[in-house]
Amino acid sequence: MSDLPRSVRVVTDQAFPEISAVPLRLREDFEAAFHAQQQATLATWRMVRAAWDAAATRDKDFVDDELALIMNVHPATAEVLLADVMLAAPFPALLTEWEAGHLTDRHVKAACKELYDRLTETHQRTAVLDRVLQRCHDRAAQGHSWPKPGELGRMIAAAALLLDLDAAHRQEREAADRRGVDTTPLPHGQAQLVVEGPQEQVLEMATAIRARAEEMGREPGDERTLAQREFDAAHELITSGAAGEGTVTRETQVVVPVATATGEADQLGELPGLGPVHPQTCRDLLSRSDTLRRICVDATTGRVLAVDDPVRVGRDPAAIAGTLAAMQTDPVVTRDLSTPAYRPTRRALAFVRTRDRTCRFPGCTRPARRSDVDHEQPWPLGPTDPANLHCLCRHHHRAKQSGLFSVRTEPDGTTVWTLRGGREFRRPPPALLPSC
Ligand SMILES: [Zn+2]
Repeated sequence: MSDLPRSVRVVTDQAFPEISAVPLRLREDFEAAFHAQQQATLATWRMVRAAWDAAATRDKDFVDDELALIMNVHPATAEVLLADVMLAAPFPALLTEWEAGHLTDRHVKAACKELYDRLTETHQRTAVLDRVLQRCHDRAAQGHSWPKPGELGRMIAAAALLLDLDAAHRQEREAADRRGVDTTPLPHGQAQLVVEGPQEQVLEMATAIRARAEEMGREPGDERTLAQREFDAAHELITSGAAGEGTVTRETQVVVPVATATGEADQLGELPGLGPVHPQTCRDLLSRSDTLRRICVDATTGRVLAVDDPVRVGRDPAAIAGTLAAMQTDPVVTRDLSTPAYRPTRRALAFVRTRDRTCRFPGCTRPARRSDVDHEQPWPLGPTDPANLHCLCRHHHRAKQSGLFSVRTEPDGTTVWTLRGGREFRRPPPALLPSC
């Protein structure tokens, strides 16, 4: 526990520089205009619903055509609007939260997508949604922001998985049977290759491509962009099979609770950046692991407390079981986290990247492994210690350096970004495992 950030760190509480990306008055005007636009969109949705309800059964097929005439858009556009409205219709709670300003049309669409993709019965969808919205209210009561659309979708995905794990596993296997590869032509002699299948295998492929691309980037004189190298790496790996094998180490992360790993319980795991993972999939992935890294998290908040060095298990069931059993008796401690030097220790980097998962700017999802590890309070004023280190993507690192925001971390790990004028945006510490 001694590694937790203990004190509130204030980075730039000195006089705010007289600059801001958006002047305060315009920001307030924007906020008012955005709120009005959201309320108008909500009113439109309600009118569309009323029009559908009022239409005679034989006319319902043509409601979208009439809407398209009024909006002066292609009928397909009106059809999409009508579909969005009707998908949300069984969930009045979503519209209530929208009206209250907690959600937007994007949230409602993201929520409906997960509810319909993952569950078949209306009563299941309602139960999952009620549970997730209650959790959002609880978090808001503790001062946290409402989730962004993608985060709301992941919360619903996790709650839907937990509702019926057997059914979810069956659905995953059926969906995996439809795996495949597709090509789509693009203009200017280009094309797209779409690989569709189980998320953990897609992630393994993506990780292999990125690892090879990073290796290519270390060659002197390579002036290709990262995206170009990733394409070239994918081409090389797919067309030449085993080329590069043995030279590239790659790491696919899946976070598995110990009780799930040992089969004692069916808690969800998580593929960082992708979302919740079925417990059985976790166990399958674990049996194919070359290394394990033990991470200790707070059981209530999911916050990372300690990160161990990786342990080599070489896909050996006995070694895997032994490492897991050691977790019950041998506490995970993180050593060598502080240094008087400017550059954090290797272990501190691993700890901070595991703890933060992404850039800490509210809503930013750029992965921690591609982010800078920044001193919140500049060194040497602030120490090189995880309590004073956080992950910021290059873009938001620059935003912080420009002085547009002040940043501080509260004792519970919540990062508070304050805009000029005092408006605060809070981002709670990420939970390592899915929340729902
Ligand atoms: Zn960022």
